[in-house]
Amino acid sequence: MKIVKSATEMTRLAETWSYHSGCAIVPTMGALHEGHLALVSRAKSAADRVIVSIFVNPLQFGPGEDFDRYPRNLERDSELLQSAGADIVFSPNADVMTPADMRVTVDPGPMGDVLCGQYRPGHFRGVCTIVSKLFHITRPGQAYFGWKDAQQFIILRKMVQDLNLPVAMHGVDTKRESDGLAMSSRNAYLKPEERRAATVLSEALEKARVSYSNGQNSTAYLVVQIQETIAAEPLARLQYCEARSMDTLEPVDSVLPGNTLIAVAAHFGETRLIDNIRL
Ligand code: AMP
Repeated sequence: MKIVKSATEMTRLAETWSYHSGCAIVPTMGALHEGHLALVSRAKSAADRVIVSIFVNPLQFGPGEDFDRYPRNLERDSELLQSAGADIVFSPNADVMTPADMRVTVDPGPMGDVLCGQYRPGHFRGVCTIVSKLFHITRPGQAYFGWKDAQQFIILRKMVQDLNLPVAMHGVDTKRESDGLAMSSRNAYLKPEERRAATVLSEALEKARVSYSNGQNSTAYLVVQIQETIAAEPLARLQYCEARSMDTLEPVDSVLPGNTLIAVAAHFGETRLIDNIRL
């Protein structure tokens, strides 16, 4: 496994791989856990070469968010990626990804203003801009993202379609702790009592899934059920719970089978967590 920091070196290596469709990228911000490694493993099963990028993207953090304290540990991450069979860790510096004279960004349009975008203005512009740059530098034929960040995946999939980027986009199911909590680098911020309380998100979503399986098709009903379950947990402060189309992120009144996302965001103390189900 090679660790590469220079964009020129990264592109030179990517170009020596004769057919790019066999090359996959897994973009990450590091602080890797089993969720990230599941993406690497999916990528490995389908591609000849796997590049994992590690870049804590300043453009996707708002003022007062956790950019400065976001966990960074390239050495540990590289060891995990070596064991997982990655070919290259692309770990560019900020002067490569966000040079001081950078002016142009990629606008996700209205899909970037809903759900998390409503509370994190500019977040998805930051994501689209950096992922576009990563695609151009690493020239992958395939890319792997987690459904854990469903809005991110849906927007990036649309970006690839709308801008005709030659990358096949793959979403990987959310990896969870044994008690249901979605794995996240931010779980490390939780105090013990918040960590215990945080399981309420997956519990609430799973209850709604059961209601849907029992024939409840109204998204208003499912959303209220989730809100009530989360409200019963004193350490949880729900930011939003919404049902949206998985293609357009437009609101939906009744579940469109196979195409409905119910997404939640909530604070536990200072820590903001997200989770979702797809129905
Ligand atoms: P991050 O480093 O948090 O930006 O995440 C990098 C990639 O890993 C994104 O595509 C995430 O959606 C994905 N990811 C993060 N957590 C999980 C998880 N628990 N299960 C599956 N994928 C995940």
